[in-house]
Amino acid sequence: MTKIAENISSIRQQITQFEVRYKRESSSVKLLAVSKRIGIEKIRTAHGAGQLDFGENYYQEAKDKIDALLELNLYWHFIGPMQSNKTRGIAENFSWVHSVDREKIAVRLNEQRPVGLENLNVCVQVNLSGENSKSGVSLDECAVLCNSIDQLPKLSLRGLMAIPAPLSSFEEQRQCFIALFSKYENLKSLHSSMDTLSLGMSNDFEAAIAEGSTMIRIGTGIFGTRN
Ligand SMILES: *Cc1c(COP(=O)(O)O)cnc(C)c1O
Repeated sequence: MTKIAENISSIRQQITQFEVRYKRESSSVKLLAVSKRIGIEKIRTAHGAGQLDFGENYYQEAKDKIDALLELNLYWHFIGPMQSNKTRGIAENFSWVHSVDREKIAVRLNEQRPVGLENLNVCVQVNLSGENSKSGVSLDECAVLCNSIDQLPKLSLRGLMAIPAPLSSFEEQRQCFIALFSKYENLKSLHSSMDTLSLGMSNDFEAAIAEGSTMIRIGTGIFGTRN
């Protein structure tokens, strides 16, 4: 087995263990492989290990890989900062966008999603650390944005996403996720299409699963350290 295949299998096993440990439903947590700055051969290897969902942060880099790997029928998730001038390419080439943080971007994605493609799956990015430099709406603002997205016919509102500030202790990480989960549960009761909490990376996915994540985004833990 290659190192990448071993890593994927080990993370899948850990997901299963954590689902049991934190009394989560079996198979309720999906694995998104974050392939930013990773070449297409390694993505092929991950696909060979059964991985179908991949996350990318930079449009142009992603587009080259999407074109090169078209025959694999992968699901591409855009998880990077959204710029207005990249929405068309994203609407045309991705299945998911996790990083919608303003109405203007949502409106453009809806207008630019080609007729004939399935709806674009959208998560609203929430900024948990309150740093101005980071993208994302505050917990207070996300209900309004979710309402707007729910009205757009070519988008499917799937949930919330967050990139928390790196915290080293498990308890600190958990603490930080509690308010997000409570907001997610509240919004889910208002929007029946919501089923996704995109939360947890290589260093904090146990805490994320403990606090209700349904999709963890793992880069380093699968592909190793990025160049
Ligand atoms: C890079 C990245 C990840 C993966 O991070 P790792 O620590 O390598 O697992 C997850 N989510 C987002 C938004 C990222 O940019």
